[in-house]
Amino acid sequence: MKFSDIQGQEGLKQRLAKTVDEGRVSHAQMFTGVAGSGALPLALAYVQYLNCTDRKDGDSCGVCPSCQKIAALQHPDVHFVMPVNKQGKKTGEAMVSDSFLNEWRVMFAKTGGWFDEQMWYDALGLDSLQGNISKKEADEVIRKLSFKSFEGGYKAVVVWLPERMNSEAANTLLKILEEPWDKTLFLLVSAEPRLLLPTILSRVQQTIVPADEFEAWRRLHPDEEGEVNEDFDLFIELMRLSYNDKHLELIKWAEKVATIGRERQKRLLEGFIRWVRASYMVNAGLENIAYLWGSEMDFCRKFAPFIDNRNVEALIAEMESALGQLRQNGNAGIVFTHFALAVSKMIVKK
Ligand SMILES: [Zn+2]
Repeated sequence: MKFSDIQGQEGLKQRLAKTVDEGRVSHAQMFTGVAGSGALPLALAYVQYLNCTDRKDGDSCGVCPSCQKIAALQHPDVHFVMPVNKQGKKTGEAMVSDSFLNEWRVMFAKTGGWFDEQMWYDALGLDSLQGNISKKEADEVIRKLSFKSFEGGYKAVVVWLPERMNSEAANTLLKILEEPWDKTLFLLVSAEPRLLLPTILSRVQQTIVPADEFEAWRRLHPDEEGEVNEDFDLFIELMRLSYNDKHLELIKWAEKVATIGRERQKRLLEGFIRWVRASYMVNAGLENIAYLWGSEMDFCRKFAPFIDNRNVEALIAEMESALGQLRQNGNAGIVFTHFALAVSKMIVKK
């Protein structure tokens, strides 16, 4: 990945290239940015620039053997660590990132590095489990870094979401952060640095990757705008039926939603939560931070009077509860029937 493959962040990309040009490469760094900010693609572009044998105009060449191997996530000196797990694993069995490199490469190829934690867990087929970074993984990192560089350039370890390390793993990796190794880069890419040990934070040089949260969301879901509109239609339908107390139609609505895919159902509920919050903000006079546009804004403006202090929390709690049941593989027909009838009680005619 070249810097030029990443849209925006021009000032930041120039600053990063300049530190490499001037030989100021700190051995322990952290890029910080919410999912969709591009912190992960930037980390990859930075490592590629660092090891490129033909840098030009503040960017890697993209064609030298080093660039090609890094872009394919196949460079022998560039290692990746990310939270991993396996559904149905044996008790006490520790997972390491190398076992999931194929899934990792596919994820990158599909998204260009623009993905979030949930998308990664979905790709690993995790329903009820989260990923984590184990002590075994940390030992593996130290073992890999103790080899000489294969290709003569920098050895790099990119740790995506270091906040998923347990404390044993974090303490093991602290040793590397404390003692710089020759031509070795340790690059953390964090979405929630507040979850990291202070001892880790104090040893890394931080680069903040700024992002507009709304832009970030759209980057993560570029192909889904059509579906998002359909989701929004389902939301409007649910709210209209609720408002008019149409119980039979509400049950039909639930049956219809029960037939769409599980991932889509989860996203639908996430959208509902966003729209209810936005309507509440509009009602509270905070329209400018509601992050809505076009028909969604029009509807939420009309709908806003029905969302207030008396029902906003209960509505969101109902949506989160349905989301939780879907994540636990609850029966979608039952979940949505209960959900639609519960919501209808909370939307009251005035
Ligand atoms: Zn190159």
